[in-house]
Amino acid sequence: MELRISKQELQELVDEAYSKYKDNKEGKNADYIPYLSRVNSSLFGIAVTLCDGDTLTAGDCDYHFGIESVSKVMTAILVLKQYGAETIMHMIGADATGMPFNSILAILLEKSHPSTPLVNAGAIAAVSMVQPVGNSKQKWQNIQENIDDLCGSETAIIDELYKSESVTNFNNRAIAWLLKSYSRIYDDPDVALDLYTRQCSLGITAKQLSVCAATIANNGINPVTGKRIFNASLAPRIVSMMSAVGFYEHSGNWMFTSGLPAKTGVGGGIMGVLPGTFGIAAYAPRLDEAGNSVRAQKALRYIMNKLGANVFSDRIITFKNHKEPVTY
Ligand code: GLU
Repeated sequence: MELRISKQELQELVDEAYSKYKDNKEGKNADYIPYLSRVNSSLFGIAVTLCDGDTLTAGDCDYHFGIESVSKVMTAILVLKQYGAETIMHMIGADATGMPFNSILAILLEKSHPSTPLVNAGAIAAVSMVQPVGNSKQKWQNIQENIDDLCGSETAIIDELYKSESVTNFNNRAIAWLLKSYSRIYDDPDVALDLYTRQCSLGITAKQLSVCAATIANNGINPVTGKRIFNASLAPRIVSMMSAVGFYEHSGNWMFTSGLPAKTGVGGGIMGVLPGTFGIAAYAPRLDEAGNSVRAQKALRYIMNKLGANVFSDRIITFKNHKEPVTY
């Protein structure tokens, strides 16, 4: 079943979703990280990047917000690249925990591995695995370079966020050391925790997130820069992880109602991937009780449902006047 639309029609749909939810006031900013509680909660943006590199936007798509847990996807890609899917499956896993993102109980219940690199425990384990193990400076360079490559432009740490998170991340400290007691952290726990906190404190725009998502949708080639960032065989692995746990304990409901593999962050960003079609992102700081942005999820769901697009259906979206994606 094919739906053929023009970019103009998609732009109109993005504008429609923006107007529909712009004034929605449900939810509240994350407050366990003091910086996030102070962010202007009326900010809202939606960006879609197609596999030919064109980006359509509505609202605040150039505002730099805290990437937070969306960065877990990027670093999962980095360790998948460095170690291969089989090793990541063995050392971390790909299961949904069905529990909150920072759950200690989930680690206790699943002693043998931290479950998935897309929850805090697995993400801290993933950061600990980033090569070269034992060289925190080079590790950080590799983490940030990988994120910049996926986004096709540079990112920078929001210093105030990094400080705010570093002095309040007691739960994550407990996670790092609990992983150590199960031999499930592969570098110094304090170093891994610090690098994890840094990556969560990177400032990112909705536009950059949509390019990163489009790189995944485009099987590893960044459609804006034309650079291959990861091997095409890893794309379905990462998309499957996003579907399983991207919305934490609401992942099942999210996939059921939107059909869009996506990853959220407590900064208010969401990044979604429709393989072969587009990467889509939205940003709005107010969150639901599971830590997922309220307006961003409503806007993305609305767009997916209106298009009838769904990763589990046979609907193919094609674009009129689509440029051929760059391949190298
Ligand atoms: N840095 C945040 C934390 O570790 C990320 C949580 C999230 O975005 O889900 O608590």
